[in-house]
Amino acid sequence: MSTLKNDLALFNKLAEVLINEEQQHPVAERIEANQLYDTLDLSLSNDAMIDDDFTSVLSDILVATPKTATNLFFNQLFGGRQSKAVLGDLLAVLLNNSMYTYKVAGPQVGIEQEIIRKSCQLIGYGEKSNGTFPTGGSMSNYMALIMGRDAKDPACGVNGMRKPLIIYTSKESHYSNAKNASFAGIGRNNIRYIAADAEGKMIPEKLEEQIKEDIKNGGIPTYVNATAGTTVLGAFDPIDTIADITQKYNIWLHVDGAYCGSVLFSKKYKHLLNGIERSDSFSYNAHKMLGTPLTCSIILVNDKKHLHNSFSNDASYLYQTDGDDFNLGKTSFQCGRRNDALKFWTLWKSVGTKGLEQIVDQQFDLANVALAYIRSNPDYTLYSFDNSIGVCFNYKNVDPIALCTALYEHQETVVGFGSFKEDTFVRFVTINANNEKEHILNFFKILEDFVAKTPALTEATVLHA
Ligand SMILES: *Cc1c(COP(=O)(O)O)cnc(C)c1O
Repeated sequence: MSTLKNDLALFNKLAEVLINEEQQHPVAERIEANQLYDTLDLSLSNDAMIDDDFTSVLSDILVATPKTATNLFFNQLFGGRQSKAVLGDLLAVLLNNSMYTYKVAGPQVGIEQEIIRKSCQLIGYGEKSNGTFPTGGSMSNYMALIMGRDAKDPACGVNGMRKPLIIYTSKESHYSNAKNASFAGIGRNNIRYIAADAEGKMIPEKLEEQIKEDIKNGGIPTYVNATAGTTVLGAFDPIDTIADITQKYNIWLHVDGAYCGSVLFSKKYKHLLNGIERSDSFSYNAHKMLGTPLTCSIILVNDKKHLHNSFSNDASYLYQTDGDDFNLGKTSFQCGRRNDALKFWTLWKSVGTKGLEQIVDQQFDLANVALAYIRSNPDYTLYSFDNSIGVCFNYKNVDPIALCTALYEHQETVVGFGSFKEDTFVRFVTINANNEKEHILNFFKILEDFVAKTPALTEATVLHA
């Protein structure tokens, strides 16, 4: 057998170890960070390690690595595992194309373009639209910002910024907005954080007030970032009303749907994106709500000329055949680019758009199970709202930070905390569409049993302000 065949057989063996382990220990046994190098053999040395030793080290590492696909992982904005997407990603690794040219990526170019074309259609972008697959939601936001900057000040890319460009986002938006302002040469001090209402949505009136103020002071309003699913509360900014304002003042409107933009696949929840067809760019992460392996982020642009204006550079050593529509490197940030499209395509192709809709709807159904449970139980305080898959709550008088940390340290379940305005709370994310109602109820049972047997949590703790 060739080496590859041997290694694929080893892969199957290790995958089985992992899958069994996930069933028996849905939360991996935690290794204290300061004991990591003493517990596992991670060392690299002059001597080769092969055969049984190699297999057993790999197996130990797999078992000890946090499990994100199990029904006790609720920590972040991804989780679970769509197996057809895993299949696609494994194939992408084997194929190992780079997405910059048709010459080296062939049909994979068409696969990526089909996802983009269909997504643009679903949100109502027209004939001129296109997009690309950046390395993640943060990079999608960065690319959008650069296009917005260049649209407002086309000389900026050549001469550097000479006028104070001002950008707007809500206080509840993702932190990449701040980093990106710094990378783009706009500067963190030129971001205006617009207040959110009681449900965490940007207040459009405040946005317009701020724009007027900046114009009065000689600033140039350039870019608005609206969020479809804020990172903590999962709130949707009112895109249609915001679009009235960006249109009036000729400002780029980007919608950051990294977390919940995938509602575009759901008849029931698509209304949360009302007005999306009026935006200049929109991004969503298939590795969040759609459960593909990390990373799978898509940015769509209403008029593709902006992608070309901001990202294409001629390179005769690279673009030798086939023309711009097939040489995707002309519209990407990086040069060599991983194939993130195939895993999404294998999922979409195998379940259909209807299947993607079910994946999305299931997460809201699970959130509704959690909401109903919390609302019917006086020991809980609820902080989140309808139409969100981030269910935020506190239990009795237990400090949420202490609770989440203790649950993790005792390998009970993995869940995180968040804050909104004055409150800090547990943020329980029902993003794993493989879960069923019983897994949600099981989470609450684990939490309650754990608090009952851990008196320190309810004694002397004060609720975090
Ligand atoms: C997760 C997230 C991002 C960042 O996406 P990455 O792929 O992690 O870089 C940006 N915006 C929002 C609203 C997010 O939830």
